[in-house]
Amino acid sequence: MPTLKCPVCGNPVEVPDDAMPGELIEHDCGVVLEVYRDQNGNLALRPFEGVQEDWGE
Ligand SMILES: [Zn+2]
Repeated sequence: MPTLKCPVCGNPVEVPDDAMPGELIEHDCGVVLEVYRDQNGNLALRPFEGVQEDWGE
């Protein structure tokens, strides 16, 4: 099970082996993290800020 670093609190986050980009993981610090692939093709985490629909106004 890979362990990534929480971008918010800096503590380790255990990511399931079968985690897919787009998967959401709730961390102990209370933030929801989104799994994504960075430009190198590695799994990484970023804070999930909800569905941001940009339909314009
Ligand atoms: Zn955290």
